[in-house]
Amino acid sequence: MSLLVVGSVAFDSVKTPFGEVEEVLGGSATYFSIAASYFTDVSLVAVVGEDFPEAHLDFLKERNINIDGLKRDSGKTFRWKGEYSYHLNEAKTLKTELNVLESFRPTLPPSYCEAPMVFLANIDPELQSNVLNQVKNPGLVACDTMNFWIEGKRDALIKTLASVDILIINDGEARELAREVNLVKAAKKIRAFGPKILVVKQGEYGALLFNEETIFSAPAFPLENVFDPTGAGDSFAGGFMGYLSKYQTFNDDAIRRAVIYGSTMASFNVEAFSLDRMRTLKYAEIESRYQAFKGLTTFENVANPES
Ligand code: AMP
Repeated sequence: MSLLVVGSVAFDSVKTPFGEVEEVLGGSATYFSIAASYFTDVSLVAVVGEDFPEAHLDFLKERNINIDGLKRDSGKTFRWKGEYSYHLNEAKTLKTELNVLESFRPTLPPSYCEAPMVFLANIDPELQSNVLNQVKNPGLVACDTMNFWIEGKRDALIKTLASVDILIINDGEARELAREVNLVKAAKKIRAFGPKILVVKQGEYGALLFNEETIFSAPAFPLENVFDPTGAGDSFAGGFMGYLSKYQTFNDDAIRRAVIYGSTMASFNVEAFSLDRMRTLKYAEIESRYQAFKGLTTFENVANPES
């Protein structure tokens, strides 16, 4: 089963309390594709400039990602610069240079139009709609966004959300989108925009899943070494959607398991700068951390001293 993603492929410059990197491989679609590629076939829609090295494309190809929809335009690749304080949950954006992304309106390769599942990664909501409208009959559509678009293109974003089944955003974005501080009330408002399911990521505090009348709370994996949170959200979405694409079951149990696979992929990603951890990650490590997650949250069968 194939999973289509549209989003950014980028050069990131990132500073965390543990180090600093300049113009490394990043982008919402890059992180998503690499994470999802451990579970399913991924077809990527994105644009890069003349300055984008072949070696980065080779990395995507080595993970069997279909890059027929990755265009190279004249101009410079999208660039993002961000900084994290010891409070690693939120990036401070220092610079966003859209460059070739600004005018990118792709025509999808014919095989992409048949994609059964679509992920609209963090990118201009007008571009998200443009791509989604070309997919003939997607069975499941999920979406991400960020404050840059919530503030800059709110109307276009709300229009996109009308065609979305699952929205995956962080808590700050959920509050800003809903214009509501309380997360439970915010979830209600956001679900009224279109997405039946909302996943709210809370960085090191885990994620909340709002599905119909139920709420599921998942922790983040407690890590000794968190190096760079960039791409954690996209890696979460890649694990989440990759798992659903692999098993094609969308009931509440499957969505809850997908949240844990998403958290698992995010936990690996933050262990190194850029996508460096993903260059060595093996599927067996993913399964082993998924099992460790189970141990982390199990309490029903633990002996109760009062009984
Ligand atoms: P996250 O998973 O939320 O940490 O996403 C980080 C990635 O988002 C970085 O690799 C950036 O290149 C990318 N990014 C940042 N700002 C934007 C934007 N306005 N549009 C698209 N992608 C962005």
